[in-house]
Amino acid sequence: MKKWYLLVPIANIDSQQDGQTFTIEAKITFPIDLKKFCMLVCSNCGQDVRYPTIKEIHCMNCDQKNLLVPRCRFDVDLKDNSGSTIGIIMDKEGEKLLSLAGKEIYKRASDLVLLLFKS
Ligand SMILES: [Zn+2]
Repeated sequence: MKKWYLLVPIANIDSQQDGQTFTIEAKITFPIDLKKFCMLVCSNCGQDVRYPTIKEIHCMNCDQKNLLVPRCRFDVDLKDNSGSTIGIIMDKEGEKLLSLAGKEIYKRASDLVLLLFKS
């Protein structure tokens, strides 16, 4: 059975109780920079190590040598009539959204490349 949650305007998100689940209806804007769609994390503990390339690192969090793996994670701007906020989308949810929005993102990324070429 589908569960319905309360529809909350973005301006009222801060006044919701901690841990409460609710629905927002918003326009999503994806990042323009394709590099911002994933980050590299420790393959053992998932710690974000802020290292730009895939290699073996010594993870400070789990204190051992591990290979970095890419993980889908990105911020989106969410906007409705009441205001705007930033959402973080990760893992499976992100991959699901990206496959829906992949064409749009690809188009935006190529527009950006075109802009860079023109200037
Ligand atoms: Zn680790």
